Amino acid sequence: MSEENKSIHEFDFELICEYFSSVERQGPGSPEVTLKALSFIDNLTGESHIADIGCGTGGQTMVLAEHAPGHITGIDLFADFIDIFNANSRKRNLQDRVRGIVGSMEHLAFQKEELDLIWSEGAIYNIGFERGISEWRKFLKPGGYLAVSEASWFTRRRPVEIERYWQDAYPEIDIISHKVGQMEKAGYIPTATFVEPENCWTEHFYAPQVSAQEKFLKKHAGNKTAEELVENERHEARLYEIYKEFYGYVFYIGKKI
Ligand code: SAM
Repeated sequence: MSEENKSIHEFDFELICEYFSSVERQGPGSPEVTLKALSFIDNLTGESHIADIGCGTGGQTMVLAEHAPGHITGIDLFADFIDIFNANSRKRNLQDRVRGIVGSMEHLAFQKEELDLIWSEGAIYNIGFERGISEWRKFLKPGGYLAVSEASWFTRRRPVEIERYWQDAYPEIDIISHKVGQMEKAGYIPTATFVEPENCWTEHFYAPQVSAQEKFLKKHAGNKTAEELVENERHEARLYEIYKEFYGYVFYIGKKI
């Protein structure tokens, strides 16, 4: 594998956490998109229990919490992200109903049929879309909702460079109709699917990284791993600019049958 194509997972975890802790979002998305996805969910009350899986520092969770009733548990593998998540929740006075815990999406500690809504923005790829939607389903009440965003192809044919990049980064990337079919097979009614607008990548994900990268490189001057991490992110942003008509993030919303 070439240096250029190095996956983010191969970098030092502490450095990755430090880098992504300095930006509000750890993946593409926006408050508008979170609210649009939420507009398709019609089962929530003050008693509802929502899980935000792979919540990161909670950018999208706080938006969700300010517009949806019920209790939210954010789960992330990285304790540093969860510390920031809980500080964000306290800052907004949401600590009584929004709590972050450290945990893995592969071993969720919920009871069967405990949840009204499973939320996950830009994170299900860590377990794989098909496995995630099928393993998490048991935690939803009948009629409960799943709302996840996932990297997807927009076209059936793609230029070789971007095809290779994604085959290496996340081979489960696929066209939207295929993902919708997987939801049906897993036991969900696909209630809504929409493509996230470009500004979810440019304005909300890549732009805030520019100044974060400068500071990070200054702090870790001479550290090859830090330099590679930043170069990796810059490479990804360049590819997006060139090939954005072929792929992007798509929100998939399904209701448990
Ligand atoms: N949802 C956030 C957002 O949209 O800004 C974060 C998205 S980030 C691309 C993916 C998140 O998944 C990271 O916060 C990462 O720590 C978390 N993650 C990775 N593997 C995980 C696992 N096995 N269990 C729980 N969280 C995981």
